[in-house]
Amino acid sequence: MMQVKNFMEDLVWEKVDEVIDCQKNLCRCEHCRYDVVALALNFLPPRYVVSHQGEMFTKVKELEQQFNIDILSAITNAAIIVSGKPRHEQGEKRIEPHQSTEDAY
Ligand SMILES: [Zn+2]
Repeated sequence: MMQVKNFMEDLVWEKVDEVIDCQKNLCRCEHCRYDVVALALNFLPPRYVVSHQGEMFTKVKELEQQFNIDILSAITNAAIIVSGKPRHEQGEKRIEPHQSTEDAY
C-alpha cells in the first residue's frame, strides 16, 4: 500500500521525549506534550514522501541525519514556549517533572 506521509512528523515524535526530559520547567501532561509536537512541526519544513512498506526505514534515517539538529532545536524552542504558556485546561493538573537530586548539595 502506498501512502503520502510527512516524515518530519514521525521524527519529531521520535525525539520529543528526549528533549522534554531536559526541559526542567515543562509540564509533563499529555496536552502539553502534544502542543510541543504541533509547535515544533510548525517550525520545521514538511517533508512529504511516498512511502511503500519496507522503504520507510531508509527514508527516515536519511532525513533524520539531514534534519537532526533542526528537529532538536525546533522541539527545544517549542518546549520553551509551551512551558512559559501552558494551554492545558483549568482543572487538568500540571504534572511536575521529576526532581533530580543529582545537583543538590
Ligand atoms: Zn500541561
